[in-house]
Amino acid sequence: MRTVVSGAAGFIGSHMCDRLLVEGHTVIGLDNLLTGSRRNTAHLENESRFRLLHQDITEHFDIEGPVDWVLNMASPASPKDYLENPIETLDVGSAGTRRMLELAREKGARFLLTSTSECYGDPLAHPQAETYWGNVNPVGPRSCYDESKRFAEALTMAYHRKFGLRTNIARIFNTYGPRMKLDDGRVVPAFLDQALRGEPMTIFGDGSQTRSFCYVSDLVDGLYRLLLSEERYPVNLGNPCELTILEFAQRIRQMTGSRSDITFLPLPEDDPKQRRPDISKARAVFGWEPKVPLDDGLRLTIEYFRDMHTVAA
Ligand code: UDP
Repeated sequence: MRTVVSGAAGFIGSHMCDRLLVEGHTVIGLDNLLTGSRRNTAHLENESRFRLLHQDITEHFDIEGPVDWVLNMASPASPKDYLENPIETLDVGSAGTRRMLELAREKGARFLLTSTSECYGDPLAHPQAETYWGNVNPVGPRSCYDESKRFAEALTMAYHRKFGLRTNIARIFNTYGPRMKLDDGRVVPAFLDQALRGEPMTIFGDGSQTRSFCYVSDLVDGLYRLLLSEERYPVNLGNPCELTILEFAQRIRQMTGSRSDITFLPLPEDDPKQRRPDISKARAVFGWEPKVPLDDGLRLTIEYFRDMHTVAA
């Protein structure tokens, strides 16, 4: 099996490459390193079945030889990153997805799009099932990401309908684990970094908004199973264990043994008030559900962030 992965130097992309290699694949990773890092695949340097190409998928590229799977995982994914790079985010979801779909079509390969729970916007339905069409502000600051992913889903379905391409779409909910970027602004790296430094933990709003956090190995397992399934419509992947951001801050404070204060800052525009995946479909279609409890996943993530701090110091 030969698999092309865009976003291979990213957080989830690099973990997916690891899993594919374990499954015996040869992996060609593509990344323009806008938000990804070579550090995430440094451990694969001597792996003969892995290659990382510095490639922007919105620009022309050729892959020689047969390809069995095409995994389109490239995009800025944290609010800070996509707000700083709105045009690049729109381009990678549209032009980038188009090139990856064309690659799959040319090679007769299976195609996976990693989409997002942001497709549901600030949801009015709770928990969110795949049948919910969402509540996205099409011109708000987050629209560059939300609409880019919604467009990518539409394009993927069009390639499936028009060319019979074998496609899968995963809607990924908040995921955490080692290799998250320390400064990507997301709540997990932000709180861990602040707690480990003893700096104030910054809660946006009053902390009553909710999120549900899935450990990265569970997520990758869901993606792999989805790829083996016949499901063409989007499938939610995430951990339904929901907590408020205030509870989350307190949990991290306690687990790191930190004495950080908690400070409250203004809530960003259009920040979703609640988010929890309904994963009935993933359970029914390919027997998937997350296995790693939040405390276990956080312990592993804290270890990674501690090591990163030691390296930086
Ligand atoms: N958040 C926070 N403090 C931070 C970073 C994020 O309170 O330093 C909040 C953010 O407002 C949101 C939640 O944590 O309600 C999750 O934010 P994140 O950026 O991780 O991802 P999102 O789920 O919004 O895409």
